[in-house]
Amino acid sequence: MRCQRCKHERARGAYYQCYVGVAYPSTGAEGARTRRMRYAIQGPRKLWICHRCVALSVLTSEAGLGALVLLLFQLTGQPEWMLFGIFAGLLLIANYIADHGWEIIQTCGDAQAIRAVQAEMGSESHYDIYLDRGQVKRLE
Ligand SMILES: [Zn+2]
Repeated sequence: MRCQRCKHERARGAYYQCYVGVAYPSTGAEGARTRRMRYAIQGPRKLWICHRCVALSVLTSEAGLGALVLLLFQLTGQPEWMLFGIFAGLLLIANYIADHGWEIIQTCGDAQAIRAVQAEMGSESHYDIYLDRGQVKRLE
């Protein structure tokens, strides 16, 4: 199938989802510094993304970087650097999970789907927000 992110024909991939939305000011209670916004969210849009694009997204995420740091410092063979690698690596991974949840592959696949939709619309886009499944779930 043709990957909707990299536009190459690939044998392996999966469908990922994204949501698009428009923000507009809400009428009603407004503070001096805060402004209530309402969102109209549409979706899900389902896009077929190849495994290569998703793997690249996982590797370049905070979780992938954390795993890399964790592994690389083990190669030093120095106990204090190995320990540092474990702490720094796990901290990056934990930070990613705190922000995005445990579904790392799904979140990274959805992130690629969002980039594909953004690239497709370019500057013509009239959407203000793009959300993955996890973000939409947290809004409910
Ligand atoms: Zn691809």
